[in-house]
Amino acid sequence: MEQIVDLCKQRGFIFQGSEIYGGLGGFWDYGPLGVELKNNIKRLWWKAIVHDREDVVGLDTAIIMNPRVWEASGHLTEFTDPMVDCKQCKRRFRADDIKDQTCPSCGAIGQFTPVRRFNLMFKTFVGPVEDASALAYLRPETAQGIFTNFKNVLNTMRKKLPFGIAQIGRSFRNEITPGDFIFRDREFEQMELEYFVKPGEDERWHKYWVEERFNWYIQALGLRAERLRIRELPKEELAHYAKAAYEIEYDFPGKGWAELEGIANRTDYDLRRHIEFSGKELFYFDEETGEHIIPYVIEPSAGVDRLFLACLLDAYHEEEVRDRRRVVLRLKPALAPIKVAVLPLLANRPEIVSLAREITARLKPKFTTMYDDTASIGRLYRRQDEIGTPYCVTVDVQSLTDHQVTVRERDTMEQIRVPIDQLPRLLEEKLALA
Ligand code: ATP
Repeated sequence: MEQIVDLCKQRGFIFQGSEIYGGLGGFWDYGPLGVELKNNIKRLWWKAIVHDREDVVGLDTAIIMNPRVWEASGHLTEFTDPMVDCKQCKRRFRADDIKDQTCPSCGAIGQFTPVRRFNLMFKTFVGPVEDASALAYLRPETAQGIFTNFKNVLNTMRKKLPFGIAQIGRSFRNEITPGDFIFRDREFEQMELEYFVKPGEDERWHKYWVEERFNWYIQALGLRAERLRIRELPKEELAHYAKAAYEIEYDFPGKGWAELEGIANRTDYDLRRHIEFSGKELFYFDEETGEHIIPYVIEPSAGVDRLFLACLLDAYHEEEVRDRRRVVLRLKPALAPIKVAVLPLLANRPEIVSLAREITARLKPKFTTMYDDTASIGRLYRRQDEIGTPYCVTVDVQSLTDHQVTVRERDTMEQIRVPIDQLPRLLEEKLALA
């Protein structure tokens, strides 16, 4: 984990939020490479969940909603974590993080206050007057924007059950103890699907989505299967809205098994509550039976930031190459922030530089391509290995006469000579197959 944190900072994946002012606990900024990797994760999710399917549509809803939403959803009363204070060092902890009654900070034994419930929602005010009537919340999950738009989507998209509505967006939780780098943040992104089904068909669809989602991590993202597992939650761990839930967990090095994604059967809880609180008829008309029903909901809910961390940890390799340590991120090409790097062998030869720049310009519209001439070729290769670039294209003196370049593959370090005009096609083929 420490190596990943260092690499993230040094190579421009992740920076501490408001770092020049000492940071702020639980808030992180994504750098130039981080934003690319993060976008790739979100794009692959959206493709699998929305674009590749007939039965799911997308949505993008506001972060701040009418506070009645959170009354109806139960978050105002139920979205709490148990909290204790250490009487000796005065630090606060999530009660379920305290094992053996020993303070993780100062080591005092049995010095905790009784457990209190702490609501995780951030508060703010809407409009110029800061009184109770203007109180609002930053959403702690994106799901409620989907439930409140259930009828809008149903009416405009003419969907029949089963169908889903997907959303990617920021969520906010005032976590008592953020930490483990970007594993637990106070501002983070979620990728959520609310999949509406007929009551009675919910258990079957729940199983379907657990399997579907588990396979996605292995097939689409290329995560190592042995670091993934499915865990069914016991009753006492279920959220207030859930009838049953599974977690897809990742074996984080140095941390152990922890949740990447929760897949809950939310029943008809949310729609029923919104019907009750809003007085609106959020029903589905079942043409077969002529009845108005409230659909059940299966919800796969994944965290982008947590998954980002898992992708880096999973891809990170250190190896010895000719007595030197090589760090390489074996990211699946679809995830890699940069797909191709174009490197001139001699940065002081204008003809080589200009050919390399020309090649970069030609590749850029097709793949995220980076030009770099700021070090010797060995260093340039090492840099690209560290950020997971699948292919490097090197332009040398010979390229000026034979119109060929060297293509180096990240994982095997194999090099082949390729005519420049065949380069885009070759890279396209290699990146698609990988
Ligand atoms: P945990 O038990 O770790 O607090 P949770 O069960 O409260 O998580 P959910 O409400 O199921 O989490 O949220 C769905 C997903 O959102 C999680 O699987 C996780 O990937 C992500 N997530 C939740 N809270 C955070 C957080 N504070 N920071 C980063 N990601 C988070």
